[in-house]
Amino acid sequence: MTRRVLVIGGGIGGLCLAHALRQSDVDVVVHERAAVPSPRHRLRITPDGAAAFRACLPPPVFGALVATSMRYTNGMAAYDEQLVPKWEHDDPDDGDPDRVDAVDHRTLREVLLTGLGEIVRYGKEFARAELTPSGGVRAHFRDGASDEGDVLVAADGADSAVRAAWRPADVPRDLGVRAIVSRIPMARAIKGGLPDFMRDRFTSVVGAAASFGLLPMEFRPGADAEDYYTAVFNAHRDDLGVPDDVLFGLSGGALREVLLDRTAGWHPDLHGLFEHVEPAETHALALRASVPVRPWGQGPVVPLGDAAHTMPLSGGAGANVAAQDAAALRAALVAPGLLSEALAEYQSDLVRRGTAAVEESVRLAAGSMRLD
Ligand SMILES: Cc1cc2nc3c(=O)[nH]c(=O)nc-3n(C[C@H](O)[C@H](O)[C@H](O)COP(=O)(O)OP(=O)(O)OC[C@H]3O[C@@H](n4cnc5c(N)ncnc54)[C@H](O)[C@@H]3O)c2cc1C
Repeated sequence: MTRRVLVIGGGIGGLCLAHALRQSDVDVVVHERAAVPSPRHRLRITPDGAAAFRACLPPPVFGALVATSMRYTNGMAAYDEQLVPKWEHDDPDDGDPDRVDAVDHRTLREVLLTGLGEIVRYGKEFARAELTPSGGVRAHFRDGASDEGDVLVAADGADSAVRAAWRPADVPRDLGVRAIVSRIPMARAIKGGLPDFMRDRFTSVVGAAASFGLLPMEFRPGADAEDYYTAVFNAHRDDLGVPDDVLFGLSGGALREVLLDRTAGWHPDLHGLFEHVEPAETHALALRASVPVRPWGQGPVVPLGDAAHTMPLSGGAGANVAAQDAAALRAALVAPGLLSEALAEYQSDLVRRGTAAVEESVRLAAGSMRLD
């Protein structure tokens, strides 16, 4: 039987699923709110995540992902805010030319859009959905259009409108931490005096009232892209001292001033870094976690990715788990037998995988910041 699958949200998980279903000749359409480029920050890719991307994507698209990735990160080291070393963790280079250690979010999304053409429909902001008498589901969009399918996949991210409509009680918990995420061109940081030992590894700084991560995104030789660092400053909102209604309205330039002010007493090599952040790529966000991760119950509406399991950035896991969800959901949707049973099994698997990732991300966050 031919199934029609509506995917709400053309982000990482939704686009992976679209590729996977298309390769299995399943009728799939992605309804995406807007044709807005993704932010330019680094995404760590785990071996399980890379395997899931490989499973979902046609070989040329996966090849483009590899070609635009960072192959290797030289481990991790932790310091206090005066750059006194705490510990370090080496990650020996296995020399694998196809290793994928990290990707740029915006580039990954562009790669994932390759070849999907009219499968992705823009300007389709999900508003509501209802079950149809035939057991399917009809989605309605804010532009007045609607579409019907056998399955609706909520892949619309951490602020999922589908979740708000379908599972209104499943609100991710605010962990109390506010992150200011920014981008620093690598050449500018190095010219500005970034110490050698911080250049090619993940630097973690755990201070008394804030923590900070500096993560290199160094493209492969020959890639037409500028190397950079993703800089993530985290503080509990009480320690940050900027009310949410002010913080989330600040421009990138004003956020840079907050960073410079809150790190004024830090080691000059750390404090000086914030001079180089790009205001246009600087924004604040709240760290949240889906605790617990819950299945969405029986029926043709199922979640995927952040919509089901929002987690703090600390684990570098959300995109990887979204890709794993996509691979698992494809398997469920093409399995012979009852669709309802396959979807129930998919959701059990998603809850197990999502719970493990959320718990690990929260555990890692708790190691370097004060959580509510
Ligand atoms: C600074 C930062 C660093 C991160 N680092 C990592 C990392 O190192 N490794 C990692 O694995 N993960 C990381 N993550 C998390 C990762 O980006 C997410 O987990 C991942 O993008 C989730 O994929 P998704 O498909 O569920 O949602 P998204 O990629 O967020 O996609 C959701 C899509 O739905 C669309 N949408 C939203 N609402 C609607 C609507 N009403 N109607 C239609 N469409 C809608 C959005 O426009 C978007 O395109 C990081 C996140 C941030 C912010």
